[in-house]
Amino acid sequence: MPIPAPTADTRWRCTQCANLTRFDVVRVSRTREFWHQELSGSPVVEDAQVLDGQIESVACRWCAGGGSIELVTRPAGPAGPAEE
Ligand SMILES: [Zn+2]
Repeated sequence: MPIPAPTADTRWRCTQCANLTRFDVVRVSRTREFWHQELSGSPVVEDAQVLDGQIESVACRWCAGGGSIELVTRPAGPAGPAEE
């Protein structure tokens, strides 16, 4: 069972190194994309909308996936500084 995605009230945390901000995520997504194709035929995706998706795995970026990821409550109060 993969870990659920963060919500407005929760965030991910690595149980091994306490990382809160950097994760490698593998997911399958169904998307709608706007492909702008040059006359030569080379396409460029200029816009993409995720219609639905499924997270397959989440690994901590810092300890190379050695730890496990847990869902924890976000701190209360006003939003903190922007994520780095
Ligand atoms: Zn970690």
